[in-house]
Amino acid sequence: MPTIFSKIIAGEIPSYKIAENDRFYAFLDINPLSPGHTLVVPKQEIDKYFDLEPELLSELNLFAQKVAHAMRSVIPCQRIGQIVFGLEVPHAHIHLIPIRTEADMSFTKAREQISSEKMKELAELIRSAL
Ligand code: AMP
Repeated sequence: MPTIFSKIIAGEIPSYKIAENDRFYAFLDINPLSPGHTLVVPKQEIDKYFDLEPELLSELNLFAQKVAHAMRSVIPCQRIGQIVFGLEVPHAHIHLIPIRTEADMSFTKAREQISSEKMKELAELIRSAL
């Protein structure tokens, strides 16, 4: 049974896509901790981040770096936080989160409600900076 992220990558479930190449896919988190919260995933379906082959893990981070630079250039924030965290989806992923305070990285805080129009705008904005 493919993960929800594999279904997103396959285009079976819609996403607010930020970037894609042959091995990686980046898209907005649908329940963001802050506007622009992005997930970066390998297309290869591997549950645990630290089980990725070293080269794939390195390349995933270099891909995430490009996305983070683009996010930082268009989203008002102090910096882009990166965290590998969570138990919900068994498909390795990096969270990139625009932060103004340390509390913005807290996964216990309420997620933001952002309209689909605004999510589309955010995705376009980040894509335009890539
Ligand atoms: P976790 O495995 O705990 O890091 O949680 C997975 C993350 O994926 C959560 O932050 C969810 O909001 C996010 N998520 C789940 N389903 C979707 C989806 N269809 N599109 C975008 N993000 C999603």
